[in-house]
Amino acid sequence: MALITKKIKGTEDVLPKQSYRWQFIEKIMREESKAYGFKEIRTPVFEHTELFARGVGQTTDVVQKEMYTFTTKGGESVTLRPEGTAGAARAVLEHALDNEGLPIKASYFVSCYRYEKPQAGRLREFHQFGLEEYGTQSPAADAELICAAQSVLDRLGLDQIHLELNSIGCPECRAKYNQALREYFGQFKDRLCDTCLSRLEKNPMRLLDCKSPQDQELAKDAPKITDYLCEECENHFSEVKRYLDSAGVEYTVNPKIVRGLDYYTKTVFEFVTDCIGAQGTVCGGGRYDGLIEELGGKHMPSLGFAMGLERLLMVMDAQGIAIPDDDKCALYIATMGDDAKVKAFELLRRVRECGLIAETDVVGRGLRAQMKYADKIGAKYSLVLGDNELSDNKAKVKNMETGEQTELALDESFAEKFSVLNLTDNSSFSI
Ligand code: ATP
Ligand code: MG
Repeated sequence: MALITKKIKGTEDVLPKQSYRWQFIEKIMREESKAYGFKEIRTPVFEHTELFARGVGQTTDVVQKEMYTFTTKGGESVTLRPEGTAGAARAVLEHALDNEGLPIKASYFVSCYRYEKPQAGRLREFHQFGLEEYGTQSPAADAELICAAQSVLDRLGLDQIHLELNSIGCPECRAKYNQALREYFGQFKDRLCDTCLSRLEKNPMRLLDCKSPQDQELAKDAPKITDYLCEECENHFSEVKRYLDSAGVEYTVNPKIVRGLDYYTKTVFEFVTDCIGAQGTVCGGGRYDGLIEELGGKHMPSLGFAMGLERLLMVMDAQGIAIPDDDKCALYIATMGDDAKVKAFELLRRVRECGLIAETDVVGRGLRAQMKYADKIGAKYSLVLGDNELSDNKAKVKNMETGEQTELALDESFAEKFSVLNLTDNSSFSI
């Protein structure tokens, strides 16, 4: 049979066997965000195009080349979100969340859509976890946000990821810096790639993170933003570093970190690794003091970060970090005959109420095939329920790994006794 279609290029399916990996990292992210006082925000997958055009910024690659934009039947231009910040900021404004007190702290999990060239670590649909904080200009907030990202990475057991930190100043210091960059790169116009030539006037800072090797070579001797920071930005940056030092978070100041989105001011940072090839940035973030005003709100300094979930999972694989699979079946009840099938439903309900994963045959297989299936799904225990077990009202629960059997009464005590057995066996399968 020929399939009528396949998945869209640059998208990935997460299959049932794999989803525990996602759930594991998402659980840690939820727990850590909570510990830092962030609450989840959920916003729509599409928004009016102008939100991203203004919020992400006209001169960015995302807006210029990567957005999935279409016109609705009503003639509106809408765009699938390329990132999570703009939607969250819109919601904060639309619901006037600042009335409820500042800062506003929100976490999110989003799918993002960017029309990019698909390659390892670069997809057209990918997923981000992020934190957003609105209504604070204190460097303590920058440092705390970075600490939260570090905590997530630590809890995931990742090492070989380093934090690169920079300040790209406020619009004032940046104007001077941009001029210096134009003068510097202006000398090499004949050597710049086409994209960088077009960026030279509008957004010269982007030249610093161009991927072309020749431009990277030129960028090495370019003026450094840290030499152009105004006093306020300089102080802010030193404070951020002071807090990070105090929290024991290690970092390298890298004046070339400029981030891809237009809205950043002052602090910018990336967590980078060498272990997954070219797309080594697993987390990017910083401060965006002008974003809320850009979207029509009053001045509300803000900051945030986003982590790419696919890239994080790649790093975990590359570093050989085992992810516990607690989706495994604790008890499989194989049945012989209709009465046993019915009894199994009663026992299973009780076992499941104890928080354990339990299954039985719902296909209509014979006993042998049922046991084969129990083996295949990696069930920890099995139990065969037939006429004898029903009339004796007891059955043997078998540890599938050791073959050890334990007799349990099939009465009200069954689920509890099974739970205890499962636990004393030092099970990693209980949920
Ligand atoms: P890059 O320089 O890798 O293109 P970016 O600056 O476009 O990244 P952000 O917009 O800051 O990335 O997104 C935050 C994180 O989301 C990135 O650090 C990365 O982990 C992830 N990410 C971004 N684009 C993609 C993509 N196309 N596929 C998979 N993950 C992505
Ligand atoms: Mg990008």
